Amino acid sequence: MLNIVLFGPPGAGKGTQSENIIAKYGLTHLSTGDLFRKHLGEGTSLGKLAKGYMDQGHLVPDEVVIKMVEDKISSTKETKGFIFDGFPRTTAQANALDEMLSGLEMKISGMIALDVPQDILKERIKERGKTSGRADDQDEEKINTRIKVYLAETLPVAEYYEKQGKFQNINGVGKIDEIFGQISKVIDSY
Ligand code: ADP
Repeated sequence: MLNIVLFGPPGAGKGTQSENIIAKYGLTHLSTGDLFRKHLGEGTSLGKLAKGYMDQGHLVPDEVVIKMVEDKISSTKETKGFIFDGFPRTTAQANALDEMLSGLEMKISGMIALDVPQDILKERIKERGKTSGRADDQDEEKINTRIKVYLAETLPVAEYYEKQGKFQNINGVGKIDEIFGQISKVIDSY
């Protein structure tokens, strides 16, 4: 089984590259942002709870995210593996994921990080905001909050996987297919 954590700041291209990875390797996409947006669209109580955090660019509390991920993993039958996109976003989530997987005799193959400078991230998110309809993509202050939260709470997750010898950094600026070529090389080495 291949279980990959795709890592990077908001706007790094995780969603785009996840699609490429799924098409080539047949993995199951597990994007916590997409799952929350689905709940939001369906008006579930989880969606209502998450909305307040998401709209402000803050993280949804760990226990809520972890429960949602557990449900998704346990309801997925017959898969070649998962691509984790936007999760884990805190070291508490990373610990919970390791525990969850080891209980199922699964493990993370590796983390692939997309490296993109801040000024390019902000441009990409604003551009995406013109069509994404996402409240958190359309306001400079919220974009800045998300990047700040990423630096303070999410960046330590890279170190968590580096300590396990599972971290690979890739330049996330350039042509989409060239970046995907780099990602494929890493995946093929697992
Ligand atoms: P982006 O990577 O562009 O910020 P996502 O779609 O991954 O977008 O996430 C959107 C929002 O959903 C986040 O700003 C946060 O509020 C919430 N969210 C998504 N994943 C997590 C997570 N693992 N932990 C906490 N909150 C999350």
